[in-house]
Amino acid sequence: MNFKDYIRVIHDYPQPGIRFKDITTLLQNGPAYRAAIEAMKAAVEHLEIDVVAGPEARGFVIGAPLAISLGVGFVPVRKPGKLPFETVQASYDLEYGNDSLAIHKDAIKPGQRVLIADDLLATGGTIATTINLIRQLGGEVVGTSFLIELGYLPGREKLGSGFEINSLITY
Ligand code: 5GP
Repeated sequence: MNFKDYIRVIHDYPQPGIRFKDITTLLQNGPAYRAAIEAMKAAVEHLEIDVVAGPEARGFVIGAPLAISLGVGFVPVRKPGKLPFETVQASYDLEYGNDSLAIHKDAIKPGQRVLIADDLLATGGTIATTINLIRQLGGEVVGTSFLIELGYLPGREKLGSGFEINSLITY
């Protein structure tokens, strides 16, 4: 299956000059959505993953089905104030200002092998912060898995090394 055929590219969204990769056109197609998750699973199943973590909101629509297909649990990574139990938090810089992410303190047990999943790797800020949170809890990041990677941005370099970086579609 050529997964790119199911991604809609929107020019000048959310700002002039951006070519936004709209994944909703893939999600609304059952066979394409399932095939994408199965292909992402096949790329990571050798990693002996204990749990999948994904940042809100599109990380949920990729990470949760991936976790189910791997037969492991899913941990949501959220904006501050959204999780009801005790959390750890980390902030990261955006083009203008900064943002934070949070994770439940007991979501990852020390030594657990964690796969991080998201829809898209751009600059890597979101996932670098997610890696920071997982490591604060003693988790071992063994892989990251993206539906889409923007190869013209330095996201891969930002994430660093020591684990696999898998992407299904590259632009
Ligand atoms: P990064 O932190 O790597 O710069 O940005 C990645 C995050 O921004 C992802 O969580 C993703 O949901 C969102 N994002 C940035 N650009 C796009 C895009 O073109 N399409 C989609 N679907 N999400 C994007």
